[in-house]
Amino acid sequence: MKIVLITGASRGIGRAIAKKLAESGYMVIANYNKSEEEAKELLKINNIEIYKADVTKREEVHKMVEYIISKYGKIDVLINNAGIDEYKLFTDITDEDWNKMINTNLYSVFCTTQEIVKYMIHEKFGCIINISSVWGIVGGSLETHYSASKAGINGLTKSLAKELGPSNIRVNAIAPGVIETDMNKNLTQDELKDLEYQTPLGKIGEPEDIAKCAKWLVEDNFTTGQVISPNGGWIIT
Ligand code: NAD
Repeated sequence: MKIVLITGASRGIGRAIAKKLAESGYMVIANYNKSEEEAKELLKINNIEIYKADVTKREEVHKMVEYIISKYGKIDVLINNAGIDEYKLFTDITDEDWNKMINTNLYSVFCTTQEIVKYMIHEKFGCIINISSVWGIVGGSLETHYSASKAGINGLTKSLAKELGPSNIRVNAIAPGVIETDMNKNLTQDELKDLEYQTPLGKIGEPEDIAKCAKWLVEDNFTTGQVISPNGGWIIT
């Protein structure tokens, strides 16, 4: 059975991926940090276990990975999904805001991937999917630190794909457009309507759209180093 770790999986996109992969016969370890109640709901699904860890803290990530390795012997798939966003004028972003954003969205990917890759190299098999954003490709106004963190993910993804390809480890990023999750709960109905209007497919995305893309990437065996952007045609580069 393939073993999957998904970070920040208690809700939103991570939760949808956890559900889809568990229902498809993978063993999923759903990491969460704060949303314990929502994480526990996942236990109703077969093949999911939950593990609390803050992915910005090396010791907590290390313990989580060692736990999974001691129980299952390997990690086949890592999905770096945990993330935060924040809307702020560039001139208002403090050092604290900057460091929190980069730590949560980018350092966590570096740290979690580094803790796991040695085991994947040993197995000569692995699939890593980093959840990026369209803003990492085209940049988002009022989201400079968020966009920088996601552009960093895209660079890391491409470099690591080259380095780990010879070990049969694929590394890709998914860069979603606007997806209906808590991350976008601040958008008004008018703003959502406007976004739909600007999108050629006439709708914003659902977590399930990203889960389908993730499952496809997990099951593929010739795609690596790519940043795939399910976004309804909103951003076409
Ligand atoms: P969300 O806020 O529902 O989910 C983010 C998850 O990350 C939460 O469960 C949160 O608890 C977790 N998390 C945050 N910091 C953590 C930490 N230190 N340790 C462990 N977990 C932590 O939002 P979402 O939309 O599901 O976001 C998932 C990913 O998708 C994020 O990386 C986000 O940047 C990306 N994304 C979302 C959208 C969108 O429109 N919703 C678009 C592009 C990219």
